[in-house]
Amino acid sequence: MYDILIVEDEAPIANLIRMSLTQAGYRCTIASDGDEGADWVERRRFDLILLDVMLPHTSGFELMEYIRQYDTPVIFLTARTEVRDRVKGLRLGAEDYIIKPFDVAELQARVEVVLRRYHKGGGKVTLEDITVDLDSRIVTKDGRPVDLTPKEFDILRLFLQNKNIALYRETIYERVWGEPFMGDTRTVDLHVQRLRHKLGWEKRIAAVYKVGYRYEENEP
Ligand code: CA
Repeated sequence: MYDILIVEDEAPIANLIRMSLTQAGYRCTIASDGDEGADWVERRRFDLILLDVMLPHTSGFELMEYIRQYDTPVIFLTARTEVRDRVKGLRLGAEDYIIKPFDVAELQARVEVVLRRYHKGGGKVTLEDITVDLDSRIVTKDGRPVDLTPKEFDILRLFLQNKNIALYRETIYERVWGEPFMGDTRTVDLHVQRLRHKLGWEKRIAAVYKVGYRYEENEP
């Protein structure tokens, strides 16, 4: 059973997370501030830490600096408006971020994705005629190499790590470019279109109206 530490000072949110993750089969521990979080991290080895950015005394970012040495994956919990926080969190080495208020199903899906990714490493993914080697970044179609730019590859990896989950354009941009999204949707659209075309995944990478894109593992 995976052991998850929730560092969140708002009790109703912490309890909601614990309830939904416990239902999903995880063991959860709550720390209500950064210092308590640090104490837990010293005492027990967790499989994943959910870390609120806005905490009293020690902030989530400060705690992240400390947690790093333990090599435990971290998902930040951040407010909708704090774009800078999200980017800073990713730069500090977080695996993902969840925007509050969040949907319980999305929370469970993201936790699952990070745990699966973290405990399995890279490896190879094969889908029909396409093979993606996540470690060497080599992609082949019918055994022949597909020439992807680094950004196209990063987008592809993001899709593979978020199967059947609709990704906002801003999320794709922030995860792949590592900087705040300033509203230019064309950059993302252009890269996704090229990626689709190169892989022949016009249907597999579906456009989601007013959101962005969703990678569909079972092509419709
Ligand atoms: Ca908070």
